[in-house]
Amino acid sequence: MDCYDVVIIGAGPAGLLCGILCGTKGRSVCILEKGDGAGKKLLLSGSGKCNITHAGSIKDFLAHYGDKGRFVKPSLLNFTNADLMNFFEKRHLKTVEASDGKIFPETQSGRDVLGVLLEECKKRGVVIRYREPVQDIAKTPSGFEARTKNAVCRAGTAVMAAGGASYPSTGSSGDGYAFAEVLGHTIVEPGPALAPVIVRNYPFGNCAGISLADTKTAVYRNNKKVRDLCGDVLFTHRGLSGPGILDLSRYIRRTDALKVSLVKFDTKEDCEKDLIKEFTAEGKRTIKKCMSKYKVPQRILKRIFYLKGIPLDLNTASIDKKIRRVIVDNLMECPFVVESLGGYDEAMVTRGGVCCREINPNSYVASFRFGIIQG
Ligand SMILES: Cc1cc2nc3c(=O)[nH]c(=O)nc-3n(C[C@H](O)[C@H](O)[C@H](O)COP(=O)(O)OP(=O)(O)OC[C@H]3O[C@@H](n4cnc5c(N)ncnc54)[C@H](O)[C@@H]3O)c2cc1C
Repeated sequence: MDCYDVVIIGAGPAGLLCGILCGTKGRSVCILEKGDGAGKKLLLSGSGKCNITHAGSIKDFLAHYGDKGRFVKPSLLNFTNADLMNFFEKRHLKTVEASDGKIFPETQSGRDVLGVLLEECKKRGVVIRYREPVQDIAKTPSGFEARTKNAVCRAGTAVMAAGGASYPSTGSSGDGYAFAEVLGHTIVEPGPALAPVIVRNYPFGNCAGISLADTKTAVYRNNKKVRDLCGDVLFTHRGLSGPGILDLSRYIRRTDALKVSLVKFDTKEDCEKDLIKEFTAEGKRTIKKCMSKYKVPQRILKRIFYLKGIPLDLNTASIDKKIRRVIVDNLMECPFVVESLGGYDEAMVTRGGVCCREINPNSYVASFRFGIIQG
């Protein structure tokens, strides 16, 4: 039997940062990790470059948490994006801002972020035991007891940092929910979130890999707009992904319609007016030539015109109002029907989990600030 002040389940970024905090405050800490290494999901994040935060005002972050903005407020305001950047910069890992405000380590490597976290754990004597999947956890009169196949770990405090259920190959496969439930917590049904969309009868498989920057996508249900959002949209083999789609995914349901704006006009009328100008301009004789102005990737354009039965080499003189409207509709609101959302294997995060009402959002703030940022 091993005894510590704190036992942490999971060596992802949450478990490691918690280990650093507890170690800073002089607690003896043991992290039990299921896999043979720490931070496997962290290494995948931001396509390996690890997008650690955003440069915007921390107050603007709150709106991105929907109705849980109030819950995360104390955490975000007391350990801000600037604090996080300082944390790494003080440890000689500079950060850089991308044009869209995303913050990455200067080295563009998640491995360096993980390196800092592991080094700080080491400095504080945090013990990390790999290949130790926790099988159960129980409350004891003096704290908690976590059991693995090979060990029993006792501690006054237990921290659940076992992650969600997405990308189970990284080790986080939802074990934490069962542990929390055994300890008396209510679990709000988990589900995949920040997931790509699989499109019904998807005709753009040959366009996989094409990304459209800052593109407006709207979600419709029963012909009513549910939500829209601007962000990069990626065409995949089976549907749509990219930051714009992932951010919208929490509002998307099966059979919803998505309308993606391939051109940057405010209204269809503006788009049509511009098309008329192009189609009647001197010297431009085919649709293909006229379309080059709008910078819609060729493969996508070809596919749309093929599906609508409009030859791209059609002379603009033969375009009537009906054809023009079809073009406008497809450029402004290229339509897709949602077959399903990607499952846990493809979702970046998990929604649901321990009911927020059962967590005190203020409980850790003071010690965190004292421990890491000023310590
Ligand atoms: C493809 C992808 C890209 C992403 N990109 C970004 C990004 O750019 N920016 C961003 O902020 N976030 C990104 N994320 C999300 C981010 O990676 C997660 O939010 C983050 O890793 C969560 O950290 P965590 O410590 O809570 O959990 P995890 O990183 O999931 O770590 C949990 C740990 O617990 C361990 N564990 C689980 N069960 C047990 C058990 N029974 N016993 C012992 N150990 C256990 C697991 O093995 C794992 O090591 C991305 C995620 C994915 C999948």
